[in-house]
Amino acid sequence: MNVYDGMRIAAMLEHHGFEQTENVSDADIILLNTCSVRAKATDKVYSALGRIRRAKKPNAIYGIVGCVARESGADAFRKIRDLNFVLGPQSYHKLPEILNDPNTKLLDINLGGLEKFDELPPITKSPHVAYIPIQEGCNHCCTYCIVPYTRGPEISRPYNDILAEIMHSATVGAIEICLLGQNVNGYKYTDEHGKTYRLSDIIRDVAKIDSVKRIRFTSSYPTEMTDDLIDLFRTEPKLLPFLNMPIQSGSEHILQRMNRPYDLTGYMDIINKFRTARPDIQISSDFIVGFPGEQDDDFEQTINIAKNVRFINSYSFKYSPRPHTAAALMPDQIPENIKSERLIKLDSVLNEIQREFNLSCIDKTFQCLYEGVDKTGTHHIYRTPYMQPCIVSTEQPKTLANIKITSANKSCLHGKIID
Ligand code: SF4
Repeated sequence: MNVYDGMRIAAMLEHHGFEQTENVSDADIILLNTCSVRAKATDKVYSALGRIRRAKKPNAIYGIVGCVARESGADAFRKIRDLNFVLGPQSYHKLPEILNDPNTKLLDINLGGLEKFDELPPITKSPHVAYIPIQEGCNHCCTYCIVPYTRGPEISRPYNDILAEIMHSATVGAIEICLLGQNVNGYKYTDEHGKTYRLSDIIRDVAKIDSVKRIRFTSSYPTEMTDDLIDLFRTEPKLLPFLNMPIQSGSEHILQRMNRPYDLTGYMDIINKFRTARPDIQISSDFIVGFPGEQDDDFEQTINIAKNVRFINSYSFKYSPRPHTAAALMPDQIPENIKSERLIKLDSVLNEIQREFNLSCIDKTFQCLYEGVDKTGTHHIYRTPYMQPCIVSTEQPKTLANIKITSANKSCLHGKIID
């Protein structure tokens, strides 16, 4: 979501005559697009602002947008007095107001719904992957999560607006469409004729666009997986065989405390339905370790579910108390050293599963999407349908290529272009 927001902000500033620079000391306007989902990310914002303040031109304006802006509000001006703007994730389209009057302080952290989508100029070029938000906010209220506070309640964008943005992205070069939402499979929009659209309707219509070759979506809530969505994995070949469905914990006791109302049997039933619909599907997950009250036995159940499902490309984090959340007030917080030990243990399990999956890809051929050159500038990087990076040596990279995997390790694949 933040990548998308960043692209829209860049397009908006270009529309006002700005161009991008890599050097803070050259810039006339500097903004940090911020994430507050973990405390560490929030802390980094203020140290980065201090560095920017020292490096920037005296008359350059600077500020923050996104979730830390929403969380901090006017406090951000108290922490850094000469900050020029603080704009929440649904207000960043108001940034041009500060360009008209750089001497004011611009503060807007309102949850303005979908207004920003109408106000922003369209992007003029697209990388091969276009991220398209279809809904924002979340109604689930997991007890650890700040998102309902920073992004507000769920709002689904009008169906036709989404399709128009996707058509535009395809026209300017997108090959892969990644549909986004905090609760993307909760998408539900009823138009003026009373017709209701779901995520599966969007996917079906996107698949009709010839130049779009790959479709995916993130992030999904387990209990909102509808049968029509699952069935699309059987019938729609453009839908990638890869799905992120966060479980967070393998302990039902901890899931209850997280206010995630599913049990492991129900979660596994959904996975089995996906595997029946699409036998080559792989599932990714998110995990939180060290949630308040998590005992050794709860943690072992998380390890067990990771091993049983064999999640790939997963994200694991230490629980981090966030303001405005119920879990931050729970008395049985877990000491930092135990959280760290558990994270190391879980990561080693997830890494080993990833390594085994990557090795199982050797000698297989996948249609992969070009991403760019590696840091050395000598190799080209593609993404497989499972989002693994695949490194290829070639003089002539194609946008979409069938690549035979020749070797693998835990973090990437190597391959050669077949055609
Ligand atoms: S479903 Fe996701 S975004 Fe919504 S409250 Fe839970 S963790 Fe946060």
